[in-house]
Amino acid sequence: MKQCDRCGESRVIIERKQSGQILCKECFIQTTREKVLKDIRKYKLIRKGDTVAVALSGGKDSVMVLDILYDLYERNIIDLLSITIDEGIQGYREHGIKIARNNARKIGIKHEVVSFKDYFDKTLDEIMNDEPQYGACTYCGVFRRWILNRVARDMNATKIATGHNLDDETQAIVMNYLEGNIDNLTRIGPKSGSKDGRFIVKIKPLREIPEREVALYVVARDLDVHFAGCPYSSDSFRAEIGGFIKKLSLNHPTIMYSTLRGFDKIKPVLKAEFSRKSEMRECINCGEPAAHDLCRACIFSKSIENCINE
Ligand code: SF4
Ligand code: ZN
Repeated sequence: MKQCDRCGESRVIIERKQSGQILCKECFIQTTREKVLKDIRKYKLIRKGDTVAVALSGGKDSVMVLDILYDLYERNIIDLLSITIDEGIQGYREHGIKIARNNARKIGIKHEVVSFKDYFDKTLDEIMNDEPQYGACTYCGVFRRWILNRVARDMNATKIATGHNLDDETQAIVMNYLEGNIDNLTRIGPKSGSKDGRFIVKIKPLREIPEREVALYVVARDLDVHFAGCPYSSDSFRAEIGGFIKKLSLNHPTIMYSTLRGFDKIKPVLKAEFSRKSEMRECINCGEPAAHDLCRACIFSKSIENCINE
């Protein structure tokens, strides 16, 4: 009979394919939390006194981030708040918002819900009904980043923590490489490195945790989580890449880690050679940082015939 490698308990819940480690529920929770907190220290994601805004969708990844950062909040190392973005995806987002609200309320932290409709006059569903130029995830990503940065800054946050896990990060590496987006590649990492003070630094505490372990963690911890998938997710190129990497991982369980480690090694070279050197300026429409006269959110917003509501 299999036993936990750490405590000898016979009821094991995971055999980590990448390391061969076998763990019971308690040891799995403990080692996972230790790993995330160690990565936070290793990559200097958080400093004492930071105000961290968790981008809280209510999904497993963001709920896990909140659960672990709460530990730092309880120990008075950081202040903690949360922001939920309502993209306006009918039949999907409402449930996530309710769960996000419950999680924030349970631990007594500040929670803001802000919507695409408030800032861009349209829900994501309305944008997609007009058959726009790009796929849903492209609009969603650009608008979500804009709102998150604006709202986190207004709430005096010094960091934004997102729930990106190992699967997300390797997908981003492979996807941007295959699409030839070298400039995007130079920006992938455990934390965003913009020197422009108007950009709140984004951190990814779960970057080295595989998605299946995130799912197992929230179940083991009995956390309230929105498990449904976004109806637009299967439309994306990212989803195709994700399926491909998952398939490869079946016979090559360390492939995601090796992709990440290899990328982290070549990233300084990529950055030195390819990162955009242009100074950031102020978007003439919304005042947010922009590479050109208009930021991407305003370009997109104008293309769907709306303006950002100040
Ligand atoms: Fe937005 Fe795409 Fe994610 Fe859905 S899957 S929430 S559309 S980025
Ligand atoms: Zn703008």
